[in-house]
Amino acid sequence: MKTINPLFSILLLIFFISCNNSDNTNPEYTVYQGATLFDGTGKKIDSSIIIINKGRIEAVGDENTAIPDNAEIIDITGKYITPGLIDAHVHLSATGLFDTRPGQAKEKYLDSLNYYLSAKAWTKNNVEKYYEAYLRSGVTGVYDTGGAPWTISLQETAENDLNAPHVAASGTLITPASEEFVNSINPPVEKEMIRLTSDSLGRKVVQYNTYLGSTGIKIWGLALEDEEFMSRMEAVADEVEKLGNKLIIHTHVLDDAKAALQLGAKLLVHGVSHKVVDEEFINLFKKNNALYTPNIGWKKASIYSMEALIGEAGDIEDPNQVLDERTRRFIQSPGEYISSLDTTGVQEGIKGLRSEEFKKGHDSIPMLNLKKLWEAGVTIVVGTDAGNPGMLHGISYYDELEKMQEAGIPASDLIVMATRNGAMAMERLNDIGTLEKGKMADLIILEKDPSEDISNIRSITHVMRGGLLRPVNEKFEK
Ligand SMILES: [Zn+2]
Repeated sequence: MKTINPLFSILLLIFFISCNNSDNTNPEYTVYQGATLFDGTGKKIDSSIIIINKGRIEAVGDENTAIPDNAEIIDITGKYITPGLIDAHVHLSATGLFDTRPGQAKEKYLDSLNYYLSAKAWTKNNVEKYYEAYLRSGVTGVYDTGGAPWTISLQETAENDLNAPHVAASGTLITPASEEFVNSINPPVEKEMIRLTSDSLGRKVVQYNTYLGSTGIKIWGLALEDEEFMSRMEAVADEVEKLGNKLIIHTHVLDDAKAALQLGAKLLVHGVSHKVVDEEFINLFKKNNALYTPNIGWKKASIYSMEALIGEAGDIEDPNQVLDERTRRFIQSPGEYISSLDTTGVQEGIKGLRSEEFKKGHDSIPMLNLKKLWEAGVTIVVGTDAGNPGMLHGISYYDELEKMQEAGIPASDLIVMATRNGAMAMERLNDIGTLEKGKMADLIILEKDPSEDISNIRSITHVMRGGLLRPVNEKFEK
């Protein structure tokens, strides 16, 4: 027979007393009223009321929305609210600097892989510093589309941590890249990339990632000319489907992207950059209900990261000081982390990225493709590729949005892409991504109207994660 612990009875009594408390000393509901609210579905509410209860949204509506008796009312007339932002393409096991890019760095910039390994270990041991940079940038959800296997376990730990954004992660990547390249990328343990050498290996990688709980299985490039590889990819796609997981593809090439869609891909994490997209591509996209991440803000970031290597980078645009100390110091004095920098070719690289030629090709085609796909009604998400050189965790998000706006996407649509569509990519639309009854209370408060100009997202003052509202210009208390 069960007995009731007396202490439990007392606690239960206190609980009931506090529930019946009708004064405002311990309100059950928090109400934010007066702001212009964008709910993430495309709807705008002037003079809004949003009611939060136990970390979730109790109600959202206009000024006539009924307010419960026991509520704390906070007037934020003149401000703007959107759902928390979602970065649908990040790499939490990479720093955003050259120290986690050995393939590139080994030949050009670094003299030893030890820098790489220590930087990799640092990301694993300090991932909460990136969490804070995201949250204080207004990003309350991130999708790690490929990296160390340990990133998959973050999905669960971050979920219950109000100091972390929600995390989705796909884990180890599958690739046709050479053994040499794959070895240069992989730490000796916790492999981030697996070269697809047989059907059975492909199936096993899919199985293991899926059993670990991965959200998606990412393919890093295809090799259409390699028939054997492509036939192994069919086995991979078959296993993904069998286990109910999702195929994600990294490519910039139109024909590769089409082949991936024919294999069933549901998410492209980069835009097509070499050719203008055609009808066939758009139709395949729609048939798969696939999502498109243009990922076009990287150029500015790459130039910045190269300037940092030669000591020519200007100040980091980080008014709220959200970046962690290591990243900041690395940019200001990379020599402290990499003792003998070989900067051959860096100037050349910067010149190349700044050239008119680059602008006409690599820069303009992805923007044109984004506009075409948007006009065709393809679902578009926002992803920075943060973790790669120059794409700093958190703050890179604004550059990406601004570049998408430059491509011709209206700011009001960008709000939806940055919130609801990101949650779709993370497979979390049932509880995050929009401000609707029953969803988690993840939102940001802005000084300026983001639907007028998406740059106004930079006017963020507060972020709410799971009902906890904090100013973004103050460090989180530990
Ligand atoms: Zn990436």
